[in-house]
Amino acid sequence: MSDPLYLAPRLESRPAALLDSPVFLHSLVAALGSPLNVVLPDQMADNVRRFQDVYARHRLAGRICFAHKANRSSALVRRLAAISAPANGPAAHSPAAHSPATHSPAASGASSAGASVGIDVASLGELQHALGCGFTPERITATGPKDPAFLWLAARTGVTVGTDSAGELTALAALVERHDLPRVRVMPRLSEFTAPGTRTLTRRSRFGTPADEADALLDLVEKHPGSLELTGVSYHLDTMSLAEKAVALEGCVRVLDDCRRRGLRPRAVDIGGGFGVDYLADGAQWEAYTTELTRALLGRRPPLTWEGHGYGLRAENGTLRGALGVYPGHRPVAGPRYLDELLGQAAPSLGRPLATLLLENLYDLHAEPGRALTDQCGITLAEVLEVRATAAGERLVRIAANARDVGLEDHGLLVDPVLVPRGAPDDGVERPVGVYILGNLCLESDLISRRTVFLPRAPRPGDLLAFVNTAGYFMDFTADHAMRQPVARKAAVHQDAAGAWRWCLDEQYWPHLTADEPGGAL
Ligand SMILES: *Cc1c(COP(=O)(O)O)cnc(C)c1O
Repeated sequence: MSDPLYLAPRLESRPAALLDSPVFLHSLVAALGSPLNVVLPDQMADNVRRFQDVYARHRLAGRICFAHKANRSSALVRRLAAISAPANGPAAHSPAAHSPATHSPAASGASSAGASVGIDVASLGELQHALGCGFTPERITATGPKDPAFLWLAARTGVTVGTDSAGELTALAALVERHDLPRVRVMPRLSEFTAPGTRTLTRRSRFGTPADEADALLDLVEKHPGSLELTGVSYHLDTMSLAEKAVALEGCVRVLDDCRRRGLRPRAVDIGGGFGVDYLADGAQWEAYTTELTRALLGRRPPLTWEGHGYGLRAENGTLRGALGVYPGHRPVAGPRYLDELLGQAAPSLGRPLATLLLENLYDLHAEPGRALTDQCGITLAEVLEVRATAAGERLVRIAANARDVGLEDHGLLVDPVLVPRGAPDDGVERPVGVYILGNLCLESDLISRRTVFLPRAPRPGDLLAFVNTAGYFMDFTADHAMRQPVARKAAVHQDAAGAWRWCLDEQYWPHLTADEPGGAL
C-alpha cells in the first residue's frame, strides 16, 4: 500500500479523554446498540464561554443564541438553558428594561459588556422543545419561514420573531390584533445587501427581504404600533466570506439608523450563524490529501475514491474540470475566532471596525451559531460488522450504521473516524490500511465514505468506529427508519468530580442532576 493519507480529526481534551475510554464506550454500545450518538453538554457550555469572551474583548453586549436545528438533543439545549446571564450582563434583556419608561440606548447594555445565552428555533417542534427545556420566551428567537401554528405559539408565548417576509409580518400583526395578544418583538430578516461606493454585495437568498425593500417593512411596522415592536433587524448568510458579512452588518446598521429617524427604538443587530468549525487536526494533512486526490483523479496515482468519485471534480483530457465540492475541513479561522475577525473588519463604506460601529450606536449584537456551538460536543459510534476484500483488492468495512446516521459524506466533510478496538490488540506488527466504509442499507449508494479512509490498522468485527465532532448536523439531521434499521439512541455523558465518565439517556439529562455541577448536587 502507498503511504497512508490521514485526515486526523481535531480533538479537544474532553472528547479525546472520552475516546481514551474504550471500555466505557463499548459498554455504552453493548447497552444501547449501534449506531449510538454521544453528546457532551459541558463542552457546549465551554463553547459559549469562548463566544462570550469575544463579546467582552470588543466590549459588546447582546445574546448568543444556539441555532437549535444543528442537533435535536435535549441534553445540549437543557445545558444551555441552565447558563445564567453574566453578572454584569446586558440589562436590556431583563423584561423591565424593555418598557418604554426605562429604555434608552444607554440602558441597552452596550456599556456593560456581556452576552447572555438564548436559542434560535426554526419550527413549532423546536419552539416547544426550547420552552420545555427551560428557555423562557425572552431568551428565544423564532426564525425561518413559519407555518400558522408556529407563528401562533411564538406570538402567544412572546418570543422574539425574526420575520422572514412582509407577508409574515402582516400575518403576525393580524394574529396579535385578532386575539388581543401582547405586542410582539420582531427582528425582520434582511438579505441581498449592497454597500454604497463598493462593489461587494451579498448573494441572493430564498429567505429574508432584500435590504433595498426595508422601507416597506418599516412602513408596515409603523402601521401596527400596538402589535409589533421592532427591536432590531437580522441577517443569516450562507457564506464563509467575511467581506460579504461585513456588507450585511453595515447594511443592518444603516436600516437601524432609518428606524431611529422614524422614531422607532431598535436595540440590536442579529448576525445569524455560519461561524464554522475547524474539523481537522493538521492543515498539512489536508493539503497532502487534496493534492493526492487530484492526482488520483488524473490517473497519476492509485485511486483514492470509490468508482472514481470526484467530489465535484472530473478529469477531461488530462485536466481537471469542476470544483472540489467539499467542506474546508481545515479552517483555522472558525467559531469564536471568526466572530472576532468579523467584528474587527472595517465597515465597507463607513470605514470604522464593525464592533466600533455597534458601540457608537449602543446596539446589542445577537449571534446564532449552530455548528460552531456544537464543536467537539458529539461523537457517533458504530460497530464494525464485517471486513472483507474485493477481487480488485479493495478493503471494505461494513458497519452497523448508514450514511444517514453519519452525514459526513453527504456534507462533503472528509475526516477520519477513530478506531476504538474491542480487546487488546494482537501481538505483532499492525500495519495501516486504506478502507471504504459501507453502511447497513441494501443500497449501492450507502457508503459512509466514498473515499479511501486510512486507519492505523485493519479493524475487526466488534471494534467500534468513532466519528468525531458529529453534533453539528451530522448525527441526527438526516437519520430515519429506512429498512427499519434502528435510529441511533442518544446518550449524554459527563465526567464526575473524580474524572470518571457518567452517562444517561439524552432525554433523562438535566444539568442540575449531574453530581459535579457546582452547587447542583442533590
Ligand atoms: C441554520 C441557521 C443558523 C445556524 O447556522 P450555522 O451555520 O449552523 O451556524 C443560524 N440562523 C439561521 C436563521 C439559520 O437558518
